[in-house]
Amino acid sequence: MGWPNFMKRSETAKVLKLIYDQQLVSRTELAKQAGAAPSHMTSMVRRLLKEDLVIEAGFAPSGGGRRKVLLQVNPNLTHLVGIDIGTANSRIVMADFLGNVQTAKTFPTEIARGQDFVLSKVHEEVRCVLEQNPRIKGIGVASSGVIDHATGTVLFWPKVSGWKNVPLKEILEREYGLPVAVEDSTRAMAIAHRRFGGEKRLDNFVFVSVGMGIGSAIFIDGRLYVGHKGLAGELGHTTIDETGDPCSCGNRGCLEVFASGSAIINRVKIGLQQKATSSLVDVVKDDDSQLSVENIVAAAHSQDRLSERVLSEAGTHLGTALASIVNLLDPQKIILGGAVPRAAQGLFLDPMLRALRARALQQSLNSLDIIVSPLGTEAAAVGAIIIIASQILSNYGELSSLASRQPVKSKSS
Ligand SMILES: [Zn+2]
Repeated sequence: MGWPNFMKRSETAKVLKLIYDQQLVSRTELAKQAGAAPSHMTSMVRRLLKEDLVIEAGFAPSGGGRRKVLLQVNPNLTHLVGIDIGTANSRIVMADFLGNVQTAKTFPTEIARGQDFVLSKVHEEVRCVLEQNPRIKGIGVASSGVIDHATGTVLFWPKVSGWKNVPLKEILEREYGLPVAVEDSTRAMAIAHRRFGGEKRLDNFVFVSVGMGIGSAIFIDGRLYVGHKGLAGELGHTTIDETGDPCSCGNRGCLEVFASGSAIINRVKIGLQQKATSSLVDVVKDDDSQLSVENIVAAAHSQDRLSERVLSEAGTHLGTALASIVNLLDPQKIILGGAVPRAAQGLFLDPMLRALRARALQQSLNSLDIIVSPLGTEAAAVGAIIIIASQILSNYGELSSLASRQPVKSKSS
């Protein structure tokens, strides 16, 4: 069944995207945002409801008068898979079209065993999820490393040798015959936070993830700023000490060498090699690969001086870098994600705030809000799902064929 001429495919895609981005929206609000006449929007929405692309999902809070019905993109349009390939751990998440997680699995990436090993393990897990759910129609991938999101290629992964120009999107599309989107994991986390972090109107903010590496996603006026070549946000590789230690990217003195999870582990290792007194000696024994951010944090909580000092110094360095972000971009909010802020909390965040407050312009600080994202370890995979869902929405042809495979409801006109 074709659409009437006045309902162009691009207009449909635009309206669907508006509904998707807002999660719940009334017809009146939708008409206002799309710049369409309310009557036109009403007939458009009628059509979207009939096609099962959109559902009615409750009412807006009463403001006196008649309560407005809220619209939502049909969560059961299709299911999607999100893959998060991290330096330490990877995750496979299966979710509905809106990104609500149904199943999730975490496994160690074992990055040192090389690209082929990692990809074959990812394939194994994805195949397993696909076999259990034939309704999966798209895959979103969040990957560490430097990503060309237009082509879905991992350009390079500073920490990991052998990952250069890996065409992840192409590899996965060929393998599964499904649409695939690949994005930098910090950007994916930021997108998940914007949707599920409990913040409706957040237009100018920076999301900073501190895991084994450090990345950032910059939102300006409600849009993700990707830069001229799509590489914006590589906060971890900005220099904070021109004479500092070499970084895996080839530069020296990068923030990542001072404040990332890898840096924290590395600095504790050095401390132990230099015979610093520390309870971690018992944890490590002869194998310092046993060191993790989590056991360093646990030691610091038990007043281990070495662990406290390393976490505090890392936090101070991050605060210094954040002060530059504040002075450069004047964001309304900085959101911290990733394993380090989540695990270390005040041990890392208090020195970070002190450094930030000491170095950023007071006028920018007055209205700045800094929080740790409440989202857990699945955030990057969920963000990747939101990205692939948005991409599917922009292709109405693909979408209507998905909707036509829905169980048919009785249709009244
Ligand atoms: Zn670097």
